[in-house]
Amino acid sequence: KKGNGPSSFLIFTEEMGAKAQQTLTMQHRLRRALENEEFVSYFQPQIETRSGRIVGMEALVRWISPEHGLIPPGAFIDVAEEFGLIDTMCEQVLRDACRWNKRWQDLGLAHVPVAVNISGRQFHNSRQLLTMVDTVLRDFDMPPQYLELELTESSAMSDPENAINVVRLLTERGISCAIDDFGTGYSSLSVLKRFPIGKLKIDRSFVNEVTTDPGDAAIVCAMIAMANALDLKVVAEGVETQDQLNFLHGVGCDQIQGFLMSRPLPGEAMEAMFQTRPPM
Ligand code: C2E
Ligand code: CA
Ligand code: CA
Ligand code: CA
Repeated sequence: KKGNGPSSFLIFTEEMGAKAQQTLTMQHRLRRALENEEFVSYFQPQIETRSGRIVGMEALVRWISPEHGLIPPGAFIDVAEEFGLIDTMCEQVLRDACRWNKRWQDLGLAHVPVAVNISGRQFHNSRQLLTMVDTVLRDFDMPPQYLELELTESSAMSDPENAINVVRLLTERGISCAIDDFGTGYSSLSVLKRFPIGKLKIDRSFVNEVTTDPGDAAIVCAMIAMANALDLKVVAEGVETQDQLNFLHGVGCDQIQGFLMSRPLPGEAMEAMFQTRPPM
């Protein structure tokens, strides 16, 4: 702090730069939003390629701000992580995801797991993560096999020994784990083999041009072959066209997720989809 006059405040903000000022503003807005519980889950269905059935869903955070409306995670996840707000935010998302999923189970609408994204920092504070997950599952009387956690390949590989250990502790509880954004994080295959995960999610960047770029097609095929060899389910993210779907079906990709089937939906709309299109 550099004095109290308005002119010194101006200097202060100039020194910090506009970007830092924005980050600070965002941090304050996030703190208030967390207090008001403005973070909710949207849901995107995951479809079994072979049958076309909904076999799962991913919970994706949305900030519903009274002033600014719906804000997607790209605008705030990094700031939340940087300022240690990600745990509280994730807890709100996890609670919302479990509340809806449990409701759909109880109504007999769907008995499929919901996947929640977990940041690298949370995997690092594993004790806190496990306590939060245990508490939320207990609060909603939610069977652990209906929860899946997604960990990005790059955060898994930044501290693999810790990540393997946390995945093992989750698996022991009956919670399955998936490696997200696969193909972007430089896995060592010998390390990957040691992760007790159930699923790989092929990153959207490879799916994007899978029908037009022979290199991407080859990479996707190799990832599917590898997943099969390791006995993992494989999900392609970001499927937008029927051609991509046909290709992925042809090369034996187990599941697909993308705008072609559905955009991420608010809980009410997901529920309506279950009513008109029953899952397995
Ligand atoms: P992600 O985990 O890879 O999630 C998939 C993203 O791809 C979502 O963006 C989804 O809306 C988008 N997507 C799905 N299908 C398609 C498609 O066919 N085409 C295109 N162009 N996009 C598609 P979203 O919801 O904006 O989330 C962005 C990222 O923010 C997520 O990427 C994830 O890394 C992070 N994120 C989202 N929710 C959470 C959360 O609750 N916790 C944490 N830690 N991170 C989250
Ligand atoms: Ca994800
Ligand atoms: Ca992803
Ligand atoms: Ca390419």
